[in-house]
Amino acid sequence: MMWLSRNLNWLFAVVAAVLILAMPDIAGNEYALRFYTLMLIYTILALGLNVLVGYTGLVSLGQAGLYAIGAYTAAILATRLGFGFVPCLILGMVFAGSFGILLAYPTVRVRGVYLAVVTIAFGIIVENIAIEWDSLTGSWVGISNVPKPTLLGLPLNHKMYFYIVGGCALAAFAVNVNIMNSRFGRAMLATSQSEIAAASLGINVTALRTLAFVLSAVTAGAAGVLYVFLNKYISPDIFSFSDSIRFLLMVILGGAGTTLGPVVGAGALSYLPELLQQFGEWQRFVYGALLAIVMFVLPRGIVGSAADILHRFFPAARRETDGDKRPLGEIVSIGPAGGEVCLEAKDLSLHFGGLAALNNVNAQLSSGEIHGLIGPNGAGKSTLLNAVSGIYRVNSGRVFFLGVDTTDMRSHQLARRGLARTFQNTELFQEMTVLDNVWAGFHSDYRTGLFGAILRLPSYRKEEEKHRRAALDLLNFVGLTDYAYEKAKSLPFGFQRKLEIARALAVRPKLLLLDEPAAGLTQSEIDDLRDLIIQLSDHGITIVVVEHHMELVMAISSQMTVLDYGEVIAKGTAAEVQEDPKVIEAYFGSPEMLAPPPEERLDDAEREP
Ligand code: ADP
Ligand code: MG
Repeated sequence: MMWLSRNLNWLFAVVAAVLILAMPDIAGNEYALRFYTLMLIYTILALGLNVLVGYTGLVSLGQAGLYAIGAYTAAILATRLGFGFVPCLILGMVFAGSFGILLAYPTVRVRGVYLAVVTIAFGIIVENIAIEWDSLTGSWVGISNVPKPTLLGLPLNHKMYFYIVGGCALAAFAVNVNIMNSRFGRAMLATSQSEIAAASLGINVTALRTLAFVLSAVTAGAAGVLYVFLNKYISPDIFSFSDSIRFLLMVILGGAGTTLGPVVGAGALSYLPELLQQFGEWQRFVYGALLAIVMFVLPRGIVGSAADILHRFFPAARRETDGDKRPLGEIVSIGPAGGEVCLEAKDLSLHFGGLAALNNVNAQLSSGEIHGLIGPNGAGKSTLLNAVSGIYRVNSGRVFFLGVDTTDMRSHQLARRGLARTFQNTELFQEMTVLDNVWAGFHSDYRTGLFGAILRLPSYRKEEEKHRRAALDLLNFVGLTDYAYEKAKSLPFGFQRKLEIARALAVRPKLLLLDEPAAGLTQSEIDDLRDLIIQLSDHGITIVVVEHHMELVMAISSQMTVLDYGEVIAKGTAAEVQEDPKVIEAYFGSPEMLAPPPEERLDDAEREP
């Protein structure tokens, strides 16, 4: 069973290859073969769209526009300039791909439904250009007389052309599988589930989104070119908004984010209209009703939901016997911190509207220490962590990390310099396995790029194996080996916190920021956490702990900073801080100074001056 599920994709590819070879004979007539060719073209398009929708979590409703760009490029080059099939295919892909970059640009600002609107707008614009630029596109009449496709000078008959499209579809499938099972696939999934966590691991979220858009645009362009040479004629009505919807439906109905889903979806939605012809006028009604029912019964699409059900009956088996617990130094070498001062905040101020969340904060962190950052709720502790880790932009002041001015750097750049962090509300990649959560943390450590991953070059495989081992070792280090193949969301809360620390270690941090790591933990889990933090510190990692659990933070911190109302009110050793009258007033006020702060502190409204 294990073998089957791991090699299902390749098994499927072999079966599909055999089917493709046999199809011209099975189909029998030209009309049927044309239908199957079209189905494969849609499959290619859906596979590309899956990278965007399924892996990266971005919805595009403008895919027909990219399909049209590929198709018109090929039709114009072939009819006007006499270009052959192969040059048309390449140029169609390149041209459509460059529009992918254009489409990716808005993602810097807009997400979700707003992004969907941008892609719809794109589709409308392309359709309109195809209609109005008469001299180039032939308007409603379109472009006909596209020559027969040739390869190496030989004309391709229907059967040969079907094989070529089949080969392209198999290639698109292989690329899809290889991207999914690579650092790019993991980083895309990670980005779609928690953008800030992905960035905190050194993943350049914008670059990754652009890559996803370009990949989906290139495949849509290729599909458009293949369509032109199949149909020999194109006109604007082939690339309307309803086609964009259909392409998106193929991915979602089949199962977004799965490798087989787009294939099943494209097949099903190509077949369905043929099947439904018997319903006459009620065809569209039945079509809609079927879609609604399938999505209700199988909410993650046909393949996605089937995989979930299989997973329930055959839970993830452990593939690794847990080896010896390797010392951290062997798993991720961290190296000397360099310099006396690890992190310095100078006169940092940050406002949210009228609220000064940070007000001229000055703080210094020596290399190698454990630094406690405390203060009542709403004091600005998380804001300070967000400001120094590149998540928030400060209004004024500077941040220096390892002697370099990093004030204007973004989260992923800081991560690559060795700043890692966890979040007050855990930001795990919930739908990914525990192993993949940590594995994704090694993203920026790879040397081989996209083509190495797609072609599964030996150097890439070697790197994959190395980082997979390291990720497993990190899990072993924090005691989560047994859960490596579970989804992160299925872990108990205490383990989720541990997983977040293990993941942060993957970036080989020189500085680790922990935002309330003990919140929600049981006493024995807190004891474990304390040991873990001390172990990490012994390893040479500088650590900042934001914590309400006074016993813990007082016990482990060599230095402390106390914030209140966005201002530093005290600094010093745990003992000094405890004695400070300002701290006692602001924070410890009551005799239960070792207990968490009173609940009324939560109320921000009361804190307004
Ligand atoms: P702490 O972590 O010390 O409990 P925070 O840093 O989360 O406090 O918050 C400091 C203040 O800034 C609070 O009053 C909070 O409501 C406000 N704040 C934090 N983040 C934001 C944000 N993204 N937008 C607006 N206000 C915020
Ligand atoms: Mg906080």
